[in-house]
Amino acid sequence: MWYLCNETHLMNYSNNILETIGNTPMVKLNTITQDIPALVLAKIESFNPGNSVKDRMALKMVEDAEADGRLKPGGVIIEGTSGYTGMGLALASIVKGYRLICVSNDKQSKEKFDVLRAMGAEVVVCPTAVAPEDPRSYYSVSKRLSEETPNSWYVNQYDNPSNTVAHYEQTGPEIWKQTDGKISHFVVGVGTGGTISGVARYLKEKNPKVKIWGIDTYGSVFKKYHETGIFDENEIYPYITEGIGEDILPENVNFKLIDQFEKVTDKDAALYTRKLAREEGIFAGNSCGAAVKGVLQLKDNFTADDVVVVLLHDSGSRYIGKMYNDDWMIEKGFLDN
Ligand code: PMP
Repeated sequence: MWYLCNETHLMNYSNNILETIGNTPMVKLNTITQDIPALVLAKIESFNPGNSVKDRMALKMVEDAEADGRLKPGGVIIEGTSGYTGMGLALASIVKGYRLICVSNDKQSKEKFDVLRAMGAEVVVCPTAVAPEDPRSYYSVSKRLSEETPNSWYVNQYDNPSNTVAHYEQTGPEIWKQTDGKISHFVVGVGTGGTISGVARYLKEKNPKVKIWGIDTYGSVFKKYHETGIFDENEIYPYITEGIGEDILPENVNFKLIDQFEKVTDKDAALYTRKLAREEGIFAGNSCGAAVKGVLQLKDNFTADDVVVVLLHDSGSRYIGKMYNDDWMIEKGFLDN
């Protein structure tokens, strides 16, 4: 924001950290995508203050809950989060004076929990390898805590419509403007579905010809459900890629707006996360590697006139002990000894 201090000088500062969310840069990929005829642009969301795209929807969910009274002054915010939504909620809680409890699962990087605790959140860790309806699952524990805690609000990013709206109002318009309306394809990892559904709605309203491609993982239900309408439990098994794929159908995934899902393996997601850092200088997270590998898998669909935007959700800083660690990569069989 610009502030007038006298007739000739303007000061430029934000009133608090929340005002720095959004308006992230878009950067051309050069080396990784050299075999693709199209212009491939990465929207780099780690420039947000919480280092991910989720700052946008976290703040929007809080503001909407304040506006309609679900969240009251001095209240307790409770959410099941793999880390980044928690980070965005932590920023909002600090600035606005709420207590925050994050419920997560033991598959997530330790760094993500450490960062949340550093930001003043209370973190409860649950086992990953249990069904969503199991009382130990992070879905069940977050619901139970919200029922037991007075003056609390359960965010539920999976089904909370403000998640999608944040991307319809901000991320979609930014992408449209940054590409001067020339975007032909949008490629992005899908978890809660908020990013893909909000951006897709905006872009398709502007130009119904824009293609929307969701990146999924092996072990997730999305691709098969999109193609057949069948929720196949046999598709579900534990996987390594963080942040994308689900064993549920969140209300924020608007399957009608998505043209196609593409699955990327855990190994490829990890290898391309590292490639983004070393070949493009973009220090991004694990789902970003999956998204970029997805673009390469889909390359036969692109022509020289196309403008492909791939959204990179988060920063590499949370994966130092995993994809950016050679010993971890060798242990998982992703790198040769
Ligand atoms: N990447 C990362 C690292 C994430 O945390 C998430 C959110 N789970 C996603 C991608 C997917 O984004 P969305 O929830 O908006 O579909």
